Amino acid sequence: MNLTGHQLLGTSESAESNDSFFAYNPTLREEIDPAFHEASIHEIDTAVKLADTAFPIFRDLSPEKRAEFLLAITEEVQALGDALLERASVETAHPLPRCAAEWDRVITHTRQFAELIREGSWLDARIDLGNPDRKPLPKPDVRSLMEPMGPIAVFGASNFPIAISVLGTDTISAFAAGCPVIVKAHPAHPGTCELAARAILRAAARTGMPEGVFSLIQGRRNETSAYLVRHPSFEAVAFTGSLGGGRALFDIACSRPRPIPFYAEMGSVNPVFLLPGALNTRTAGIAQGFFAALTAGVGQFCTNPGLVLGIESPAWSDFQRLAGAAVSTYAPATMLHGGIHLAYTAGIEARRNTANLHLIAQSSTTPDPEKTEAGAYLFATTQQGLLADPTLLDELFGPTSTLVSCQNQGDFLAVAERLEGSLSATIHGTEEDLVEYRDLVDLLRRKVGRLIFNGYPVGLEICHSMHHGGPYPATTISSATSIGTRAIQRFVRPICYQDWPDAQLPEALKNGNPRNLFRLVNGKYSRESLS
Ligand code: NAP
Repeated sequence: MNLTGHQLLGTSESAESNDSFFAYNPTLREEIDPAFHEASIHEIDTAVKLADTAFPIFRDLSPEKRAEFLLAITEEVQALGDALLERASVETAHPLPRCAAEWDRVITHTRQFAELIREGSWLDARIDLGNPDRKPLPKPDVRSLMEPMGPIAVFGASNFPIAISVLGTDTISAFAAGCPVIVKAHPAHPGTCELAARAILRAAARTGMPEGVFSLIQGRRNETSAYLVRHPSFEAVAFTGSLGGGRALFDIACSRPRPIPFYAEMGSVNPVFLLPGALNTRTAGIAQGFFAALTAGVGQFCTNPGLVLGIESPAWSDFQRLAGAAVSTYAPATMLHGGIHLAYTAGIEARRNTANLHLIAQSSTTPDPEKTEAGAYLFATTQQGLLADPTLLDELFGPTSTLVSCQNQGDFLAVAERLEGSLSATIHGTEEDLVEYRDLVDLLRRKVGRLIFNGYPVGLEICHSMHHGGPYPATTISSATSIGTRAIQRFVRPICYQDWPDAQLPEALKNGNPRNLFRLVNGKYSRESLS
């Protein structure tokens, strides 16, 4: 499959700028052809203009037509086969099976959104029938539903080159809503982005989507991203990545003359609480599961368990010993790119020099910095030691975690109180523990987006009920999710039709209910048509 490194502006290609960069193979430490051109202002403007023109046409397509487009994307992605997986693997050092798992995830979420468009519950159709005879004032006929917002800019993260990038839930849920998308390719996997983008464009051509429904912009300069976010024609931005990048672009979105929602999903510390009922009976199993979660994907998951808390006891000492023994067996592996490796090694160095923090285990094989390898590191401290240094509550992206010794539930609560927003919190315990530690659970409900019982935070189920979000700094908008079909709600807004003639209403609100939707009519859900 030939890559050009050009901007894909709807159905046209462009490479105006001489400013170019190469993808990099972190395993072989070499640049990969072709050169990718930094997008020019003119190219970005062209993509946005096309998206703006496409919007009213795309918005008003039938649900069936948009579902057809999404299903065509799954077919085109399947047709890419090994070319996509191999390029992603070369650009990220992810093994092929990991890339295949991401590919599966894309097929699953895209099919789920196709089904959702047809099913229609996301429209949240509501009808309050009018009553001209009401006294003292007549009651108007008021109906509302969700409508797509307009063009959306998407920024993916480096750690999911297939599933949280061009083909991620951000793009697919925006399409499902009826919004054109412009993706800014991640410079750590620009070739994977181009392959995925071409699959989307082939699907768009096959299913007759309007020109400009999708464009891909290449770039590695912050100014390119900033220009995109400032562009007046966007209605929202979806971002997945670091707190630093997310916050910088969020501030730009908020300081625009016309601010827009900026949905950033960022880093997270994902605390794990080991309650006595579980720790005393399943010490070895929990240690094994923790080690697997910690080191999956070289620890490069936003759901990596960065803190583990237990109450001092023989079982807690056993857990620390077993987890430490497992960590020492971890063979260092190549990280996604030099920047992440640099941040990880600097972070580990800083933690090694932190008072009250003890390195209790590390990979017994020394990582090779030339190969940007990361070893696993396990630190330990006490509740007091942790709370004495707020930086220990921050995400350190890579295969490292801190074990925190506590004396009692009060210590757990003191740590939970100080935690910043997180994507998840995990509790290992019995049902009796959950009753006894009710205050902890209640506190965590304010801090995180997902509560896991006797499991591990890594490995998200792709399903309708999934919530992948949480209070800041896990995200910038805590009511939103970036995974699961509820993600569509980020790109729609309610619009209300008052006393509107039936023939001119959107189908979902018409008296006859031609789409057989479940609608809230006068406060009660029903599928009935109205006379
Ligand atoms: P990243 O460096 O923030 O990159 C994400 C995107 O933002 C890239 O397109 C990047 O382009 C752009 N960007 C970054 N900083 C910028 C700035 N200051 N100004 C303008 N644009 C900027 O993130 P990453 O290293 O790819 O991903 C790792 C992080 O993502 C981890 O913290 C991880 O926890 C988080 N993550 C979160 C989730 C989630 O669902 N919550 C999922 C996966 C990963 P340039 O490189 O060109 O600047």
